Amino acid sequence: MKKFHSDISGFYKLSIEDRIKLLTELIDFTEEEKELIKTLGYFKSDQIDRLIENVIGSYQLPFGLAFNFKVNDRDYIIPMVIEEPSVVAAASKAAKIARKHGGFHSENVKPIMFSQIQITNLENIESARKALKEHKDILLKIANEQDPLLNKLGGGAQDIEIREIQTNKGEMIILHLLVNVLDAMGANVVNTMAEAISPKVEEITGGIVYLRIVSNLAIHRVAKCKATFDKEMLGGKNIVEGILNAFEFAQADPFRATTHNKGIMNGIIALTLATGNDTRAIESGAHAFASLKGQYLPLTKYKLDDEGNLVGEIEVPLALGIIGGMTKIHPMARLALKILKVESANELSQVAAALGLAQNVAALRALAAEGIQKGHMALHSRNIAKLAGVPDNLIGKVVKKMMEDKKIRVDYAKEILKKIEEGENL
Ligand code: NAD
Repeated sequence: MKKFHSDISGFYKLSIEDRIKLLTELIDFTEEEKELIKTLGYFKSDQIDRLIENVIGSYQLPFGLAFNFKVNDRDYIIPMVIEEPSVVAAASKAAKIARKHGGFHSENVKPIMFSQIQITNLENIESARKALKEHKDILLKIANEQDPLLNKLGGGAQDIEIREIQTNKGEMIILHLLVNVLDAMGANVVNTMAEAISPKVEEITGGIVYLRIVSNLAIHRVAKCKATFDKEMLGGKNIVEGILNAFEFAQADPFRATTHNKGIMNGIIALTLATGNDTRAIESGAHAFASLKGQYLPLTKYKLDDEGNLVGEIEVPLALGIIGGMTKIHPMARLALKILKVESANELSQVAAALGLAQNVAALRALAAEGIQKGHMALHSRNIAKLAGVPDNLIGKVVKKMMEDKKIRVDYAKEILKKIEEGENL
């Protein structure tokens, strides 16, 4: 057995090949596993090596397409990267139901991001606040000098907000620098600007600046989308009633609201990942936004229209870009944007909000009707059969038997396989 330890320095200085060599001195890889690590797919080794630190390989996920989406009268095919079965099918289904009544209607999402500048050790909060207000123009000027291209394109630092917060280390002023980041996600843009203005902020307030960093609670970049889902296509009055009940459950109970919102994020994060955007930024922003009123609430709302159809609405902050970050570097992200045919970050966010709403309706419909497991289980049972070592030509048969008997388990798949091999007629 190789002696295993994790006390390794300078791993980043090695080539990918040498990193794998070092790793094989610590871990007994089979020949097959060694080949697997070396499979970088569509990445060139120098390309992937620049993305994060200590890279040894790449990691693939399924890339699927959701259909039937009409958002603001435009049709979209939505790329989704996700490992969970039935999410893509569910989104397509709900989009078809929304289509009957004109599809999704999304509002413009202004790409305003902001960075926070933490000003401490202030002798006089009031005079510091006043000084910041008086020097707003010079602060914006310094900020805008950091990104002339963004400025030229019509974006850039636009405004400041001044907040006071009480902390265990005393009172602080938190300065928000609001920036129109146009088609970028914008974290680097606003971080750079915040760092650049901080010496001036210290000079004019007499305080000490510590943190200068984007807020992922992008409240100035909230996507709002609405759609009407046909009563009959949803499955009738009882199902719609079930969806309304599910919504009220989530409104009243954070335990349910968390799962309700997880369903929404199934869609939004799959598109976020497909387009090379920052999934953690979207997740943290969405969940913080859901808690803003003091209780964790659902990101969607439902009511009936006069004909008894379901009207759904979603509000969620979406810091999504079509430029910057990984969006143009990742070959599949580039392809995803091409399939999606969006021309701005605004448009991408509008589509993402529609997808989140569709995903939620699909999940609630399934919960109110047949239960969530039915859809999940068809694909899941295939995976279970594979895991049990069922050969490809027998998977259909084993899956069918597992589904009929409602026993989707590896041991049961093995038992069925054994029976088939023994010639039993199932
Ligand atoms: P980026 O750093 O690549 O900047 C985008 C650049 O593109 C801008 O400087 C801008 O000048 C230029 N640009 C050209 N044409 C443009 C157009 N039409 N619209 C907008 N910009 C245009 O990317 P970013 O979006 O500033 O930063 C995103 C990255 O930052 C992500 O990878 C994210 O993971 C990372 N990040 C996130 C956090 C966080 O969320 N807390 C913190 C740090 C970094």
